[in-house]
Amino acid sequence: MTPNYPHALPLAHLPTPIERLPRLTELMKGPDLYVKRDDLTGLAGGGNKTRKLAYLLAEAQAQGCDHVITIGGPQSNHCRQTAAAAARCGLGCSLILKSHEKEINGNLLLNHLLGAHLYWVADETPAAVTERVTKQLLSMGHKPYLIPVGGSNVVGATAYVEAMEELMAQIEAQHLNIDVIVHASGSGGTQAGMLVGAHAFNFRGEILGISVSRPAEDLRTQIAALATATATHLGLETVALHDQVRVNDDYIEPGYGVLTDLEKEAIQLVAQKEGLLLDPVYTGRAMGGLIDLIRWGAFTRAQRILFWHTGGTPALHAYTQQLI
Ligand SMILES: *Cc1c(COP(=O)(O)O)cnc(C)c1O
Repeated sequence: MTPNYPHALPLAHLPTPIERLPRLTELMKGPDLYVKRDDLTGLAGGGNKTRKLAYLLAEAQAQGCDHVITIGGPQSNHCRQTAAAAARCGLGCSLILKSHEKEINGNLLLNHLLGAHLYWVADETPAAVTERVTKQLLSMGHKPYLIPVGGSNVVGATAYVEAMEELMAQIEAQHLNIDVIVHASGSGGTQAGMLVGAHAFNFRGEILGISVSRPAEDLRTQIAALATATATHLGLETVALHDQVRVNDDYIEPGYGVLTDLEKEAIQLVAQKEGLLLDPVYTGRAMGGLIDLIRWGAFTRAQRILFWHTGGTPALHAYTQQLI
């Protein structure tokens, strides 16, 4: 069965390239390493949210909405890409940011430049602020469209079903044989979409999400539920997925967005060996985890691993002191 994709806006530069990482591979004396460059999706700094927003904003427009609202941390890549997508579509954008940052840099600077309205969560919950902003917009005659954290609903996850179709075409054209996909998993929409796509397009390898914040069991349950809902949304056969959702939560301490030596070493190593930038919150942690797993012998030299780069590099500029 092929997915019945809804309409998507042409926001992303696709297909994103696949590149080999020969110097990192040699250094690790481990499996053959490749990277899928979703940091190059092209929308004001790029990243995985651009693919999701292509579907989400198409739905917003179809519903006649003239404003988008979403929620995230102060350095959220999702919020920055939402602000950019809204600007490009001529929609207003309100961002509910979960803690107050005095320093305006990284993604936060870009949100300002992109013209988003910023609301800081202080004493209320993010949900309460969202409700207040929604009511305000409605009373002003606007029609807001609410995008959940990370764009992780069936509409957003659809983008990663399609991304797996894109990957399978590249694998075939380039005669690649990928055994394992490794990527950073946060709100789960990316991994849920990939899993549905893996089924729909017969990807035979494993998909391993490195959790950046949530305990594995919790995230697995959420991903399995979202994958099932996404498959239904696209008119695909649904399969029991919970046992196939692979999440590693060994690297979630000391918490979301807290930079440790794991991320710092991974960022520096990949930059210096491959000229490739990772981000401090997601891809730095996921690559740090992958390097650690390789050192522990979790993969054989004969295996091929695709690290799916999900973007986030503008956040590097918010971590200057910890990275030098
Ligand atoms: C949001 C994000 C992720 C995680 O994607 P989810 O779909 O939320 O799991 C990974 N990497 C980067 C850079 C992100 O911004």
